[in-house]
Amino acid sequence: MSELPKIWLSSPHMGGTEQNYVNEAFAQNWIAPLGPNVNGFEQAIEDYLGPGNHAACLSSGTAAIHLALLHAGVGAGDEVLCQSFTFCGTSNPIIYQGATPVFVDSEATTWNMSPEHLETAIKARMAAGVKPKAVLMVHLYGMPAQIDKIEAICKQYGIFLIEDAAEALGSSYKGRKCGTFGDLSILSFNGNKIITTSGGGALVCRTEAQKQKTVFWATQARDQAPHYQHSEIGYNYRMSNIVAGIGRGQMEVLDKHVALRRKNNEFYRDLFKDSDLVEVLEESSEDAYSNHWLSAIIFKKSDDQRNNEKLRIFLQANNIESRPLWKPMHLQPVFDGALFYGDGTAEELFKKGLCMPSGSNLTDADRDRIKKAILQFME
Ligand SMILES: *Cc1c(COP(=O)(O)O)cnc(C)c1O
Repeated sequence: MSELPKIWLSSPHMGGTEQNYVNEAFAQNWIAPLGPNVNGFEQAIEDYLGPGNHAACLSSGTAAIHLALLHAGVGAGDEVLCQSFTFCGTSNPIIYQGATPVFVDSEATTWNMSPEHLETAIKARMAAGVKPKAVLMVHLYGMPAQIDKIEAICKQYGIFLIEDAAEALGSSYKGRKCGTFGDLSILSFNGNKIITTSGGGALVCRTEAQKQKTVFWATQARDQAPHYQHSEIGYNYRMSNIVAGIGRGQMEVLDKHVALRRKNNEFYRDLFKDSDLVEVLEESSEDAYSNHWLSAIIFKKSDDQRNNEKLRIFLQANNIESRPLWKPMHLQPVFDGALFYGDGTAEELFKKGLCMPSGSNLTDADRDRIKKAILQFME
């Protein structure tokens, strides 16, 4: 093992003002799952995303997806079309609702939901007599999906669209920010995301009424009454005022951190520009602007010596963390037997890809170490 300090895949990067907001919460004794920091953080998200967006801050991105499914009316026996190439936080809430996930493959350019496979899946399910209740699409690693095509398909068939922008705060498509598409969007502020509150998420609604309903469900669905009265099942999903203080500080450095992650991506593109083995996931057209939350590579060619897993182990020996791509959900033991529409693209990417260290707090010295290690490996 290397004696050098560990280089992380993506570690928290505080801007400096976070603690002031947390201290304010202590000074005012707002140690609760509501308060001025929660309101302030929601306001900052809404200001960032622009008019027509109403953010409800929650305990996690997964909780936000769960409540988005409630808004879509997803219940027992319903089917939800879900991008297979993602983190389980996208798909697990489908099961919480007693519904059935139907997985859709990715396209090779953006690595996100293929509009073609989506339409095939919708037609096949409708031919089988089942109309899917919702579509869950993702902008993986911050790379925007072909969201205009997916929106058009959902509109055509009248299916509720949920945008999982957990990895894509700061990305945009055709000049429109990720987190503002579809019927509802979700964000995550987990420990390794582009901004972090240690843990947390948000459901971005299109109307104030949707936001109020979200807050209602997230605070145990308490009716208007002096006593505790409930006519619906709710959840304890609201964000803490302490955590929200961190979020307020993080919003102040979001754009700066996007720029730094994009600089990392440039570093990897430059490093591999002459390689006939490795390709870096890139924006495929002017339409896409990625926050490059994680820079990911793919081995176009590989052998027993030079492949993604060998590189991961080699980097690990140099105390540099990298990580396999998300293992597609239709290949997960827990979703064994689920329906899947696709041609093996996500599986192929999973087999060949690797996420590289991508934190906004990487130093020039870190990048030098990464470069040296990779060049040594490639030799
Ligand atoms: C992180 C993540 C989530 C879940 O967010 P949590 O805040 O960790 O619950 C959902 N979807 C994707 C694609 C993610 O990366």
